[in-house]
Amino acid sequence: MEDCLFCKIAEGKIPSTKVYEDELCYAFLDINPLAPTHILVIPRRHIDSCAVLTQADEALIGHIFTVIAEIARQQHLDNGFRVVSNAGEEAGQTVKHLHFHILAGRPMTAKMNDRMA
Ligand code: 5GP
Ligand code: ZN
Repeated sequence: MEDCLFCKIAEGKIPSTKVYEDELCYAFLDINPLAPTHILVIPRRHIDSCAVLTQADEALIGHIFTVIAEIARQQHLDNGFRVVSNAGEEAGQTVKHLHFHILAGRPMTAKMNDRMA
């Protein structure tokens, strides 16, 4: 999608620190980390958010979660990690291309009253 930041990152048109890639998805370090480990996993194909997913996306989303587990093993996130996907304004979504945050390396609050606590 034209003028989409994460489409451009997935295409390599905007630089990022790659963590993982394959034909379906791309993972990179968040530019403003909220935890010692803060990785974003995105589909290469533009999807606005998890709010617009359909049955046609099930294989892709399943694949992304398998990739998340693989990244967690590679990065030795043995003490646990949190996966967050913000959809829409009230949730605090700032980039309108589906992404999954992987957060780890510090205790996470159980409260869900922050952007991603
Ligand atoms: P959201 O707020 O939409 O859930 O998450 C968007 C995330 O993208 C934020 O955590 C923000 O720090 C990250 N981000 C925004 N622009 C860039 C960028 O140009 N490069 C990287 N690596 N991350 C970005
Ligand atoms: Zn996009």
